[in-house]
Amino acid sequence: MGKPTGFKEYNRELPEKVAPALRVKNYNEFESLYSDEKLNEQSARCMNCGIPFCHSGCPLGNIIPEFNDAVYRKNWEEAYKLLSSTNNFPEFTGRICPAPCESACVLGINKPPVAIEEIEKHIIEIAYEKNLVKPTAPLIKTGKKVAVVGAGPAGLAAAAQLIKAGHAVTVYERDDKPGGLLRYGIPDFKLEKWVVERRVKVMEEDGVVFKCNVEVGKDIAADEILRSNDAVILAGGSTIPRNLNIPGRELKGIHFAMDFLKQQNKRVSNIKFKGEDISATGKDVVVIGGGDTGSDCVGTSNRQGAKSIKQFEVMVQPPAQRTNAMPWPTYPMLLKTTSSHEEGCERYWGSIPKSFWAMAMVTCAH
Ligand code: SF4
Repeated sequence: MGKPTGFKEYNRELPEKVAPALRVKNYNEFESLYSDEKLNEQSARCMNCGIPFCHSGCPLGNIIPEFNDAVYRKNWEEAYKLLSSTNNFPEFTGRICPAPCESACVLGINKPPVAIEEIEKHIIEIAYEKNLVKPTAPLIKTGKKVAVVGAGPAGLAAAAQLIKAGHAVTVYERDDKPGGLLRYGIPDFKLEKWVVERRVKVMEEDGVVFKCNVEVGKDIAADEILRSNDAVILAGGSTIPRNLNIPGRELKGIHFAMDFLKQQNKRVSNIKFKGEDISATGKDVVVIGGGDTGSDCVGTSNRQGAKSIKQFEVMVQPPAQRTNAMPWPTYPMLLKTTSSHEEGCERYWGSIPKSFWAMAMVTCAH
């Protein structure tokens, strides 16, 4: 525990963000980093609990109190070692994880929780800056070859673990670059693509071979992959969207969220795409689906210059605070106002779409 009185002395603070009116003018990330002093204060808020519930809240089992303590002592090597022992890609989770660890944080019982996700992001960014992120492949190899099909988050994590175990790893990706949803689903304003490329470069230095523009079963036979490897991991993700078969579905201007988001991510990266141009510029946009993907469609539509944006969610509006039905340390289903919502949109709750008539442009993210 860095500072026994830290949780009493300091309030939770998050790094500054660019104002909504300014950040919608581009697709850049808009959250700054803490000053050294603020990072120190925020890590000092951790109470090093006897039973650290944050641990159980984190699906990765991140060793949170220990890395908070290392951050407080500015021991970056130790902080990075602890964080990377359970988390292959803290630079992704530190930006886009919904942070269930924070919902489980003991401090959250009567104060705002420790800013764990931000601290995680700072550890990895400082680790990169200090050149602590190094290849991890052992010198002694197993002699086994493994093929990973799909270079999205799951495929990348599998490849990172396999190379660490000493296997030879080849990742097959049908798209033009590795990353999957990280590259073509999540907008740049939440995760700039140099962050993905930086990690892929580390993995390549580690010995992972990426073969892009290769669709297994089409460009290369599945048999050949099986024959030339000792094991194959299928990490193709789910790319089949959920359709909404209601009257008017055949109308023009109705798109699946991933088609819309992928195109914009390609535009930002100056990568050509096939098919019809999908644009929200000057349109009245309706987003069906109130989750994170829907929110990404809202943020993208605002940046493209939509005339108006309405977002419909099937669930009723959740409460802003915990109720008796969702006590600490469970993950609470609370009203979430994302950065994209801050940028402007009308939100509707408890709405089940019955037809597409009279909607100008629709993205289905339900
Ligand atoms: S539950 Fe919160 S205060 Fe307790 S150890 Fe974890 S991060 Fe620190």
